[in-house]
Amino acid sequence: MKVAFIDRDGVLIFEPQDDFQVDSLEKYRILPDVIDGLKELIDQGYKLVMVTNQNGIGTDSFPEEDFLLVQNKLLEDLRNEGIEFEKVFVCPHFAEDGCACRKPKTGMVDEFLKEIDLDKASFMIGDRDTDLQFAENIGVRGFKIETNSKFLIPRL
Ligand SMILES: [Zn+2]
Repeated sequence: MKVAFIDRDGVLIFEPQDDFQVDSLEKYRILPDVIDGLKELIDQGYKLVMVTNQNGIGTDSFPEEDFLLVQNKLLEDLRNEGIEFEKVFVCPHFAEDGCACRKPKTGMVDEFLKEIDLDKASFMIGDRDTDLQFAENIGVRGFKIETNSKFLIPRL
């Protein structure tokens, strides 16, 4: 399976640079070229897999319903464009929680990777060094794009 692993905030949707948290529809904005880029990846035979760290979902600082409001809107907007994500993985923890799923750790995708035969053309797109480290940790190429800029898909 050819998989495009894709970070969410700063890559698919705008990431506020003050609190790094997209917790209301007012803050929600799909970034330029995301729709076309995702469609092109699908045309190239890629399955889309979202991998995102979301600090403290389910705590007072980030109630789950606030997360879901934005997340469900994003998935709905993409679905309306014919874009479906094969899998969506979310780490809801804080860095200091020391969980096994926060990127660059691989806990979010370990089971998934056991279930599939990962094609060598798979890759990860993110805007942070932790995304590149995550890519390395699961053995795929990592591509870094600038936070909140245009969505670029790798030319392999
Ligand atoms: Zn976690």
